[in-house]
Amino acid sequence: MSTAPARPHHSFQTDDAALRPIAEKVTAGQRLDAADALALYRSGDILAVGWMANLVRERLHGDRTYFNVNRHINPTNVCVAACRLCAFGRKKDSPGAYTMALEEVFRIAGEGYSEAVTEFHIVGGLHPDLPFQYFTDLIAGLKQRFPQVHLKAFTMVEIGYFAKRYKLSSEEVLRQLKEAGLDSLPGGGAEIFADRIRHIICDHKIDGDEWLATARLAHQMGLRSNATMLYGHVEGDEDRVDHLLKLRALQDETGGFQTFIPLAFHPENTALRHLPKTTGLLDIRQVAVSRLVLDNFPHIKAYWQMLTPKIAQISLRFGADDLDGTVIEEKIYHDAGATTPQGLRRQELVRLITEAGREPVERDTLYRAVTRTETTVSIGV
Ligand code: SF4
Repeated sequence: MSTAPARPHHSFQTDDAALRPIAEKVTAGQRLDAADALALYRSGDILAVGWMANLVRERLHGDRTYFNVNRHINPTNVCVAACRLCAFGRKKDSPGAYTMALEEVFRIAGEGYSEAVTEFHIVGGLHPDLPFQYFTDLIAGLKQRFPQVHLKAFTMVEIGYFAKRYKLSSEEVLRQLKEAGLDSLPGGGAEIFADRIRHIICDHKIDGDEWLATARLAHQMGLRSNATMLYGHVEGDEDRVDHLLKLRALQDETGGFQTFIPLAFHPENTALRHLPKTTGLLDIRQVAVSRLVLDNFPHIKAYWQMLTPKIAQISLRFGADDLDGTVIEEKIYHDAGATTPQGLRRQELVRLITEAGREPVERDTLYRAVTRTETTVSIGV
């Protein structure tokens, strides 16, 4: 199905002289450097930045715009870390702390399954008392009950914590989880790699180098992952550029990242609640700069839960080719004050994409097209 209207392909125009050499590189398919990335962050001509990002996006994907039907499962919010960026984690005796029994996880997973989800996205706090077997049983139990559903679970931060807590190497942690049925890893916990910023926003989790080393290891073990960046708090443009370039360098090495997801910081109910929320302009610029700098990442996601469906939709013209999924019951960003709905129906995602003049493609976690009829769901290989 192609729903895109014929578009005028106007040539590149800008009043910002700093963008002209960048546009030449982008048009020629050349790699941008740190100075280019900084110029993109600092340019007043957001439409010219968007033009370039859109060029790259259409070169890679045409009008195809991906979404999936997924369910988030957050098995526990108990966490030993106390990241200032976080509104989700609780100390174990605090009001609102919860840990699901495995049967509860399986029951909740089953509720989503009635809508034929193709992915469970599973992340949680760093619980000090659960045995490692809780996590391997969780994965194995889900795989046994829902064999067709892709299990995307545990951030690099959780993997690093499991290794420390259970005195195993990260490789052994990943090996056991993979053996239990883990299919891939999400991209969370990357935040901003720069130490100076990490000390302020998430002092207690693994540092940037460890995050990257864990991702490298996962990729070497045949597990794909995503990558994220949390922006819009105390970081500067240089920190964002440094973060993107580190991800790009690792992707050159492993090719294991599928999707980059820029995450807008939501300050409410966090220790950084005095900070303002991100603006629409910053959100859109971040999508565009990500698309332009991460030339070796196949996909850039405009995660509608964090950006709002409206900004995410506009991002589809500024470099994004993915909106994430239907997301049933999201907790982490809603604890941080996100006012977006907790889930969007499949038809609503299709409408957002179609109205942006793009072609909706339902995908599974590995970006294979999913075809649905009234009674069946099949995944193209
Ligand atoms: S961001 Fe993650 S590691 Fe940090 S406090 Fe929240 S749940 Fe814990």
